[in-house]
Amino acid sequence: MRLYFDNNATTPVAPDVLAAMLPFFSERFGNPSSVHGLGDDAADALRAARSAVARLLDARSPKEIVFTSGGTESINTAIHSAVALNPDRRTIVTSAVEHSAVRAPLAELETRGWRIVRAGVDADGRIDRSAIEAAITSDCALVALMLANNETGVISDLDGIGERCRSVGALMHVDAVQAAGKVRIDVARIGADFVSISAHKFHGPKGVGALWVRDGITCPPLLRGGSQENSVRPGTENVTGIIGLGQAAESARAFAQDDAARARVAGLRDRLERGILDQVSGARANGAGAPRTFNTTNIAFEGLEAEAMLGLFSSQELYASAGSACHAKARKPSHVLTAMGLDADQAASCVRFSLARHTTEAEVEQALGIVVESVAALRALA
Ligand code: PLP
Repeated sequence: MRLYFDNNATTPVAPDVLAAMLPFFSERFGNPSSVHGLGDDAADALRAARSAVARLLDARSPKEIVFTSGGTESINTAIHSAVALNPDRRTIVTSAVEHSAVRAPLAELETRGWRIVRAGVDADGRIDRSAIEAAITSDCALVALMLANNETGVISDLDGIGERCRSVGALMHVDAVQAAGKVRIDVARIGADFVSISAHKFHGPKGVGALWVRDGITCPPLLRGGSQENSVRPGTENVTGIIGLGQAAESARAFAQDDAARARVAGLRDRLERGILDQVSGARANGAGAPRTFNTTNIAFEGLEAEAMLGLFSSQELYASAGSACHAKARKPSHVLTAMGLDADQAASCVRFSLARHTTEAEVEQALGIVVESVAALRALA
């Protein structure tokens, strides 16, 4: 049996999502910009998907949704827009634990003269709110923070930060890529100006996502071309992908509001985590003292290398991850774990297990057995 515990890297497309997409590869292949029946059909389907995504985010209007190629493009569009809309400001406030989709564009702006304030986190990965609040001044163009961390699942306390941004004229972007479908996202309550999500993290297809843009903000486009997506994102729409995103958004919204379903997965995550901590000496769960997404546990295995463990797991069809997928092949200690105070060796010993809404108890029990035995085997070798 394949044991897939890497759902923060990507999730399988849900059967209902695939079924919704299939007709748009074949008989319903129209271009939404075409002025005929087939085009109208695609445009109608796009409208329905936009409404579904707006509902997932509790957006005021579907007009606030821009379809993109995924989280990375949504985030880059928001950052690019914020600095263009605040041309006289030179400070950007962020945290030390953001995804590379935020870190890399900000690092690039830094080389061009922007001052990037990277607030630290505590040992459980909670962002330092006082450092963030202190840095939100009249020179601040943008505050860019994640809602849920991809490596640890730690959920950020963002309450009131949007309000503070508005009081000084700064814009706020929230990376909700790991939060969508796990945490209820209410864009009005968060008070942000931009929110990014990505379909493949909640059982939609890869290469499609959305950027929520607060009504009244006009984003300068990253690309130049046609007037699709309100001219913010030109190019013929990825209709099949967007239909999949819309369908996945409907299920994600239902799941995020279903306390019993979420509690079931949280219970399985806790069972896996507790089982490992009880049966593997020197194991420690990172971020366990903070509020976390219900599906994620990140565990340090003292004296071991995650890479060796993942290889052994994989040979038994247990799939997990070391840090985030984008870093998994980079052999650099995770910036998230080092920001939480782990040293390079400790960070290199960490494995992330991320469950999905369909994960079963039997899968957790098998995974636990494989982890315990693999660690024992590796320790015996050492
Ligand atoms: N932000 C976070 C927190 C993520 O986990 C990811 C993907 O791993 C991204 C952004 C990038 O999203 P995408 O893969 O859709 O570009």
